[in-house]
Amino acid sequence: MKLYVDMDGTLVDFVAQVSAHGFWRKDKVNKVDWAKVKAMGTSFWTEMNWINGAEAAFAKLYDMEKRGELELFILSSIDFDSGIDGKKQWLQRNTDFPLEKAIFVTEPEDKAEYAAPDAWLIDDRVKSLDPFAAAGGNVIEFKGDWKAALEAVAAAMNLD
Ligand SMILES: [Mg+2]
Repeated sequence: MKLYVDMDGTLVDFVAQVSAHGFWRKDKVNKVDWAKVKAMGTSFWTEMNWINGAEAAFAKLYDMEKRGELELFILSSIDFDSGIDGKKQWLQRNTDFPLEKAIFVTEPEDKAEYAAPDAWLIDDRVKSLDPFAAAGGNVIEFKGDWKAALEAVAAAMNLD
């Protein structure tokens, strides 16, 4: 099976980083001020912390790939260059995962381009999950609990 793992909200704590810098919009609730994020450049992304439990879980998934049990990919949506560069730098600093297996698409729904009967997506957003499922892929909704997500991966492998 191919396993695609989202970054923001799944591996890295995007919300905490937006809050730490006060990059929420003043005129709307729960909306990011992207102009401020872009102005900060790559360090906004490189300084991000792992989501609770994600570091150990990702290491476990990468070990499973090394044993040939699954094919692992990062699948992240980001629509500007400093974001892509920052995410790549984060991966280089925090993992030894090969960058050629990190896929960046423009919009959340573009992740559906990678949907297939043997493909699974772990992601925190229905905006990514619903189109992926509609395109024939399999989804695991990440709700902040990596133990549950890993159990879902194990269950998926048993089906495979
Ligand atoms: Mg996400």
